[in-house]
Amino acid sequence: MRKNIVAGNWKMNKTFEEADDLLFDLAESLKDLELENEEVIVCPPAIYLEMSTDVGLENNFAVGAQNCASEASGAYTGEISAAMLKSLEVQYCIVGHSERRKYYHETHEDLEKKVNLLLDNDISPIFCCGEVLEERESEKHFDIIKAQISESLFGLNAEELLNIVIAYEPVWAIGTGKTASSAQAQEMHAFIRGLLSEKYGTEVANEITILYGGSCNAKNAQELFSQNDVDGGLIGGASLKAEDFLAIIKSF
Ligand code: PEP
Repeated sequence: MRKNIVAGNWKMNKTFEEADDLLFDLAESLKDLELENEEVIVCPPAIYLEMSTDVGLENNFAVGAQNCASEASGAYTGEISAAMLKSLEVQYCIVGHSERRKYYHETHEDLEKKVNLLLDNDISPIFCCGEVLEERESEKHFDIIKAQISESLFGLNAEELLNIVIAYEPVWAIGTGKTASSAQAQEMHAFIRGLLSEKYGTEVANEITILYGGSCNAKNAQELFSQNDVDGGLIGGASLKAEDFLAIIKSF
């Protein structure tokens, strides 16, 4: 049975002390929570990964990075490799977030390289895909998602694919307060599962966790998560306060 996941993407937020406080608050709130088929992932800025894994390993949550290099090692000033993440016991890594596609011009090929390096280091990529508003309005959204997924992921074999989490994040909903309706989310998630099924078969497709991301919060999470193909959320703004994040986790 596929896992339900709530992952918090802190983005470039929190000073050291604030991060320490949030990790402590999360640990406190998660310690009594019974998680059965659910997993909680915290994705802090890279500089806080070590302290996050220290807390997470003892307190019911996994830790993910927000990005990694597309090369294995060497003269790439400022970059962080998948092997470095592995050495800090990081279990997940966000790949292809729309902010990185937009501001850092990440291509399908860059993302494919990152996915392969992460898998080589036993880290599960949280692969983001999503269309911008103009693409949805011109009804190109299915083609865009198909290209993003097939170009970066379809070189994987079925065994490798089973280690991937997919996050559908319509760009027009990220940080805007404008959430996709549960019907829009379900429609796209079912489309993504259909794509995976065509390429890898239904059994494999049914094992892949597909998250929704884009202004998901304590108020709309339950409705979104109740959809058949929505297996949880990738949460930005609402992951920055333990109370808000916890309310989302409790929405399954
Ligand atoms: C995100 O950045 O992945 C995200 C979903 O952000 P927000 O929840 O703030 O829209």
